[in-house]
Amino acid sequence: MTFKGFTTQLVHCDRLAGVEEGAVHAPIHNSVPYAYAATQDLVDVFQGKQYGHAYARQSTPTLDFLQRKIALLDDSISCLVFGTGMAAIGTVFLTLLKAGDHIVASRFLFGNTSSIFGTLKGYGIEVTLVDATSKQAVAEACQANTKMVFVETIANPATQIVDLVGIGELCQQLGLVYVVDNTLTSSYLFQPKSVGASLVVTSLSKYFGGHGNALGGSVSDTGLFDWSQYPNIFESYRSGDPKMWGINQMKKKGLRDFGGALSSQTAHMLSMGAETMALRMERQCANAQALAEMLDAHPKVAKVYYPGLASHPQHQRAKQLFKHFGALISFDLVDGIDCAAFLDKTQLVLNATHLGDNRTLALPVAQTIYYEMGLAGRQASGISETMIRCSIGIEDSEDLLSDFEQALAQF
Ligand SMILES: *Cc1c(COP(=O)(O)O)cnc(C)c1O
Repeated sequence: MTFKGFTTQLVHCDRLAGVEEGAVHAPIHNSVPYAYAATQDLVDVFQGKQYGHAYARQSTPTLDFLQRKIALLDDSISCLVFGTGMAAIGTVFLTLLKAGDHIVASRFLFGNTSSIFGTLKGYGIEVTLVDATSKQAVAEACQANTKMVFVETIANPATQIVDLVGIGELCQQLGLVYVVDNTLTSSYLFQPKSVGASLVVTSLSKYFGGHGNALGGSVSDTGLFDWSQYPNIFESYRSGDPKMWGINQMKKKGLRDFGGALSSQTAHMLSMGAETMALRMERQCANAQALAEMLDAHPKVAKVYYPGLASHPQHQRAKQLFKHFGALISFDLVDGIDCAAFLDKTQLVLNATHLGDNRTLALPVAQTIYYEMGLAGRQASGISETMIRCSIGIEDSEDLLSDFEQALAQF
């Protein structure tokens, strides 16, 4: 029997893959080395001729279970997990691009991803940041040495939604690797494969794990990109099924050589957290919609950034592509109300960075997560100096709304 539903698959896939002793959760294998009775078996594992593990920096049985689970949710042929989302993103760029290459990316990006582009420039990789809500802008930025396009689904913090479909068509046409960071939507709200993504990257630290107690990242290969046509695959990885060439290179050059490995202990925590992803996200998205509507109608709020509002510039696009509109809301208070002073008046909302947590978290954007970017960078990214970003949790909606209402009433 095969199960189709998102949560049914998620909570049954471990035991259906056949774990030992009838355990319903995949066990945690903490061993770092893996030993073989016959030396030849170890040799075959090293040479990739036999399935198995050698050293936990590259793989463990527990990581394999998590990878299979994520590949299932991302409708992908393979997946690699990493110690953090940034380790996953860094691996994609540093193992698939080289000096002289060019990448086009959305200008609306997670702050640390923007920062890594600065590093790439130092390595001779050209980066062009564009307003990717328009396919045209991406198309115009492409040049002969362009290898990759990188976008996020819902941009953080101003919630722009890039032209995911149009860019997918463009990448297909030009033979470019299309990388989609699906962290803010998660595989529950959106499948990047449906718009032609080659690789899906996710920070598992956010909605996937959900509880703010474990870091992790993943890269899934949807199987849509033809790696046999990609010039940057090293000779040693040009063997076997070409569909695996990209992921194999990321495993060898990223996990093995850079070492951004996830621990089995943490993989288990992320796996446990993920079981309730759909339940949590249903609640978080409903809470976010209710709060966005309340804030939008409030006289002390100047502007609300949330794709679920009909006034959002890409509302129709979000409606068409995503199951719900996500759980990240940003807003500007009217002139004269200081955002830090406002946040000090909230009681339930935590002053904290991070998102996708079960608890509602908020922070003043320009002074914290986008401080290093500077004023010009913030302006180019559509970030106002007074913006407050909220990651909406699973609290009861009435408690959440009344906390914002009482805080606003004090100004
Ligand atoms: C948090 C985040 C990352 C980085 O993930 P970490 O697990 O914190 O390293 C990357 N992209 C997006 C969109 C994020 O929100």
